Amino acid sequence: MSAVIPIVADTGCHELPVLRERGQREVFCGLTGIIWLHRKIQDAFFLVVGSRTCAHLIQSAAGVMIFAEPRFATAIIDERDLAGLADANDELDRVVRRLLERRPDIRMLFLVGSCPSEVIKLDLARAAERLSREFLPQVRVLNYSGSGIETTFTQGEDACLAALVPQLPAAGANDPASLLVVGCLPDVVEDQFARMLQAIGVQQLAFFPPRSSRSLPAVGPNTRFLLAQPFLGDTARALELRGARRIAAPFPFGVEGTSAWLHAAAHSFGIGAEAVERATQAARERAGKALQRHRERLQGRRIFFFPDSQLEIPLARFLARELGMQLVEVGTPYLHREHLRQELDWLPEGTALSEGQDVEKQLDRCRAQAPDLVVCGLGLANPLEAEGFTTKWAIELVFSPVHGYEQAADLAELFARPLLRRAKLSAEAVCN
Ligand code: SF4
Repeated sequence: MSAVIPIVADTGCHELPVLRERGQREVFCGLTGIIWLHRKIQDAFFLVVGSRTCAHLIQSAAGVMIFAEPRFATAIIDERDLAGLADANDELDRVVRRLLERRPDIRMLFLVGSCPSEVIKLDLARAAERLSREFLPQVRVLNYSGSGIETTFTQGEDACLAALVPQLPAAGANDPASLLVVGCLPDVVEDQFARMLQAIGVQQLAFFPPRSSRSLPAVGPNTRFLLAQPFLGDTARALELRGARRIAAPFPFGVEGTSAWLHAAAHSFGIGAEAVERATQAARERAGKALQRHRERLQGRRIFFFPDSQLEIPLARFLARELGMQLVEVGTPYLHREHLRQELDWLPEGTALSEGQDVEKQLDRCRAQAPDLVVCGLGLANPLEAEGFTTKWAIELVFSPVHGYEQAADLAELFARPLLRRAKLSAEAVCN
């Protein structure tokens, strides 16, 4: 429902004015994060405590993936629970016991809150404590909220990782300085970054989340962390509470972003820029060449971002600076000014930024501007395509390996492909 909070023109920390909107929004809820989180932490299980709608959402977002032993499920809150006729806590305990009996491979269980569990005020934090007591040390039970009332889709990952931070073992003040790369990355990308950081000279290195709940990285006052994703505000705060320090950097998208990210890591460990240049030279050159092909197609094309994943600002920076695209409007569900400081500095002067959403107004602005490409959620893509716009589904940008040098051209291609498809359709229409 549309809230009646007026639009406020705010000034961003780096002089770019930001249009703030708080109205009806069209964006997935935080449950969506389960799709990539369950692939990453391979002995974890995600139990959504929700409705049939929630079950449909994660099943359809998981698409065609069929698992013999899936690692997510929904405990359905039915009418009896909603009407207070059954004790939802007893029901939940029963479901969890049955699940853990059947699946002894589960080492970490996340109870994931949803809109219905919030509505009936089911206290999942207490449920997680109670069940942890029952199942420790075999299984750790944690909870976070993926509810659409509280989260947009990448915030589910933030909430999950923030819930996991207190479980990390403590590193002492005398332990050597270490680097923690924070944010879910596909394994192939993680391996590339690990090789590159080690070649640069960063030897004490871990990734969070880890691939197994049995290898949680230690964190303490000598931990420096580097965010790989721009939507991890709560996770960063939780790590800071454990004494870790964030390394300020842009995000590793495109050649420029990846280089600056690696330089920031090296710098914080006292490693000189030459070591980074040397270790990255071949990959930089390869990526630069691979981008050239897409630059020809994308240069000068006008792009409009609806707010969706919080990746919009770093992606817009990459598209504008490395591929010559023109930014019509860059919407983001939430603008974390501190974490995006360098990214904001890199945006072309005069970039129209918006934070939050009032979807009808934003659609009007989009139509008036007639961009060549619109990046938006699934709910907006089909109607916009029907109106003749060329669209890119934002969710693909989260699911695909897009970080680092080796993926820079793949990332560019994700934007080039819809334009190519549209050009082909137009050519066919002319021929017919
Ligand atoms: Fe819908 Fe809320 Fe369930 Fe998300 S958590 S699928 S928004 S009911």
